[in-house]
Amino acid sequence: MRTVLSVIFVLLIIALLLCVVFSLRSKKPIGKSVANLLVGLTIPVLGNLILIVTSVQLFAEFGCNVYFLGMDAAVISLLFFTHAYCEIGKPKLSIKLLIYVLFGIDVVQYILNPFIRFTFTTEEISVDGRAYYRLLPYIGQTYHRVVCYGLFFASLIIFIVMTAKASKVYVEKYMVILFSMVITGGIETYYIFSGHPLDMSMIGFGFFGLLVYFFSLQYRSMRVLDKLLASMASDMPEALFFFDKDGKCIWTNDPGRKLIGISKENYDDVVANLRFLFDDIDLESSGWEKRVIIGYGDEAQYLDLSMRSAVDELGRTTGSYLSVRDNTEEQRTIEREIYKSTHDAVTGLYTRENLIERITKRLNHDKETDYMIGYIEVSNFKMINDVFGSEFGTTTLLKVADTIKTNSSPKTIYGKLGYDSFGILIDKKAFDEEKLEKLLETFSIADENMEHHIIIHFGVYDFNPDEDIDVQLWFDSARLATAAITDNYQNRIVYYDDKLRNEVIHDQLISNQLKDAIEEKQIRPYLQPIVDSRGLLAGAEALVRWIHPEEGFMNPGQFIPVFERNGLISVVDKYMWRCACEILASWKERGIEAFISINVSPKDFYRLNVVSELKSLVEEHNIKPEKLRVEITETAMTSDSVDMIKTISDLREYGFIVEMDDFGSGYSSLNLLKDINLDLLKIDMQFLKDSERNMKAGLIIKSIINMSEDLGIDTLTEGVETAKQYEKLFDMGCKLYQGYYFSKPIPVEDFEKQWFD
Ligand code: C2E
Ligand code: CA
Ligand code: CA
Repeated sequence: MRTVLSVIFVLLIIALLLCVVFSLRSKKPIGKSVANLLVGLTIPVLGNLILIVTSVQLFAEFGCNVYFLGMDAAVISLLFFTHAYCEIGKPKLSIKLLIYVLFGIDVVQYILNPFIRFTFTTEEISVDGRAYYRLLPYIGQTYHRVVCYGLFFASLIIFIVMTAKASKVYVEKYMVILFSMVITGGIETYYIFSGHPLDMSMIGFGFFGLLVYFFSLQYRSMRVLDKLLASMASDMPEALFFFDKDGKCIWTNDPGRKLIGISKENYDDVVANLRFLFDDIDLESSGWEKRVIIGYGDEAQYLDLSMRSAVDELGRTTGSYLSVRDNTEEQRTIEREIYKSTHDAVTGLYTRENLIERITKRLNHDKETDYMIGYIEVSNFKMINDVFGSEFGTTTLLKVADTIKTNSSPKTIYGKLGYDSFGILIDKKAFDEEKLEKLLETFSIADENMEHHIIIHFGVYDFNPDEDIDVQLWFDSARLATAAITDNYQNRIVYYDDKLRNEVIHDQLISNQLKDAIEEKQIRPYLQPIVDSRGLLAGAEALVRWIHPEEGFMNPGQFIPVFERNGLISVVDKYMWRCACEILASWKERGIEAFISINVSPKDFYRLNVVSELKSLVEEHNIKPEKLRVEITETAMTSDSVDMIKTISDLREYGFIVEMDDFGSGYSSLNLLKDINLDLLKIDMQFLKDSERNMKAGLIIKSIINMSEDLGIDTLTEGVETAKQYEKLFDMGCKLYQGYYFSKPIPVEDFEKQWFD
């Protein structure tokens, strides 16, 4: 019996010491308290082991001392462990002091015991046929027991209180330790008071230690986990359905009940209801995901289903669960984002990329229908925006979009291409050019004051069905067709064709050649005389000519519109102005008093500071500013974006003579005269032409001349081709004349020869 017990004790000691090592290695904060307690529990076991093994009285008494002092250590460390385990903080200092004093006395009485025999002595008996020393307690031993029990009960009470207070889920945590303590304490008490020679209560001590180790450091409460998982599942926004291995529903959360419309705790109908809601749902297999859309349009609900199974450690299916997530909101957000990125914010039409993609797709799939590409542009949209305000601009774009919408045929695809342009795929069969023409002709927008006529250009690219599909390029071509429109008013629908293509290439070519052409003097001024009523030379107009090495003699009509479109006109004009100044400077030297008129393109006012350019030129050439006359066309003067009134008055103030060119060709000629102070009106030659057949035109010229006289403005008539015209104008009181009757524009040398030599 003694041998068996000693083997058990040795094993327990080893087990406890191993747990001490593991506790110290544990990362949990309670690890140290557990290790202390385990050491505290090991010592009395060791004491008892000595007592059982030995047959020598001295060793037996030593074993007793180890046992009792170990008990002290055990109960003290139990109290500290209890505090840590129940997370109630460390014992107060006063309590600690009290404990150390009480146990200090105990230690002292054990040390002094061999001399004063105050606590215990031993008597020899025979156990298993060998001497065994049994304990005989004195009064000091009672003291020891009181303090030990006191401390033990203190820990016990703490555990009882914690168990009572803990929520259901955590009761288990305290209960296990509490029970182990009660049982260990009970066994210990039994052995103390039963007088049994061999103290087997130490086995209980050992097991208590192991239990403490397990519950503090190894055990994860499955109950806690279960509860947490269950409450998490209940709170999930997804509908969850749990099935056992036979496919019977065993639980669903609130969203699940709501989704399929069942009352609490009634899981019988779940499977049937799920089958009803999700037509061909497969509840037998798992590991699948699928999206189900319930309802249509704005009412549609997007549900993402996912079926999973659970397996145990051996890989056997223990059940499965279905989760149903309502992703309608996310889906709507995604759809809104997609819509935003594929539709124009103002008109709601497709954006450029989207439009091109859709047209390309259609052309790839529909080879039967005959299509062509249309490019629609609001002419002068920037000006419309500037002058009438952006709200009016937006209204314009909306009306264009609406017009396209209401007039498009079923196969049409249209969208917004750019700031002021729209693109359209036209079904040729449904295309009615005459109707479109009318539509464009009458397109207008009313504001509170009046109806504004808006000019819309419509470029068409009629592609060849065999061509590689390149919608982007086709739109560019259709746009080019509109860009080539020079008369805003007549031509609204234009086709991109080979002629236009060649023109575009040609325009590009001459633009690239311009710089060299100026340097090589291919571009040069011609002079056309301007005479007075006596037929004497008053001055000349400088008109540009390009003597091109390949194309030959080019009139301004062949290149000026190109350069006005791409802005290069300013380069030409600056050069022409310089030439005019050089000629004037040479005339000055020869004592010739004639003036030269130069042309200023409307575009120059955007690109140059015309006033300072001209000033510095006359200063550089040391000529009088009044010798350099400045012709500004009537349309340039009506430009809203530049302060023309100021520009003109600056020019005149400096001494330039400012002339209005092509007077009468625009709209607001007469209106302009009341706001702008001018020196001369150049009456548009169309009037003169018309006056041949039309009495009224003649009368208009006469009244213009009369009115100018009243305003103190001189008049010049252009395009005088016959003596008869000259006479008539002379009679009307015109001051200056210009036209083929006197001379065509000619090279400078010829001009000088003809008039000055
Ligand atoms: P414009 O300023 O009205 O110039 C008068 C145009 O009428 C010139 O045409 C001239 O040759 C033409 N002309 C003169 N007398 C008669 C006539 O009796 N009968 C007919 N049928 N025509 C006559 P051109 O030289 O071809 O110039 C055309 C336009 O090109 C000019 O019209 C002007 O607007 C522009 N232009 C010419 N040179 C320049 C220049 O250096 N800079 C700028 N910006 N524009 C220029
Ligand atoms: Ca002119
Ligand atoms: Ca003119």
